[in-house]
Amino acid sequence: MQSGLSIHDIERIHWMSLAHRLPEGGVKAKFQDSDSCVDHFEAVRWQSGVFCPRCDAHDIAPKSARKTYRCRKCAYHFSATAGTFAHGANKKLLTYFLAAEDIIKHKATMSSFDIIGAHDFKDRHGLAYETARRLLKLLTDELLLEDGGLIGRCICSEEINLPPDIELGGRDHFFWLLEALQSHGTGQSGI
Ligand SMILES: [Zn+2]
Repeated sequence: MQSGLSIHDIERIHWMSLAHRLPEGGVKAKFQDSDSCVDHFEAVRWQSGVFCPRCDAHDIAPKSARKTYRCRKCAYHFSATAGTFAHGANKKLLTYFLAAEDIIKHKATMSSFDIIGAHDFKDRHGLAYETARRLLKLLTDELLLEDGGLIGRCICSEEINLPPDIELGGRDHFFWLLEALQSHGTGQSGI
């Protein structure tokens, strides 16, 4: 690529794009509790209908009062997060959403040698150290996928209106995002 950007800058385009797409007022303003996160997670994950994470069948019994589904083909009981990076974390999903927002904001403003410290991360999210370390890795890996993976698609809901003449992945793209974030203050808050 002739862009003159370093590998770190190119990765930062990814993080700045995600930061730019965070909701107005932040994740906290949009999601009140983990139940509302689970409902949203489900809508994002199964846009074309619920399917079984075990056998891929679409013949699924309606959601039970406990918010679980049952596959009529293989009898597997599952919830919205089953088989995803957030498997079993339904009751903690708001923490996941807030932690992912935090990672995006930090990564969007970081210079190449910075890392997010697990100690600070643990304090900001009220987690045990080992949980913080695990969550930091788990969420960062997911967020590095296209569009920020499933969690990115859950929390990064705003559109980016890039000028049409900007070459994606190039210097103009990098500096356009940098200026947009600085003028909105999106990438700076909470740091
Ligand atoms: Zn099944």
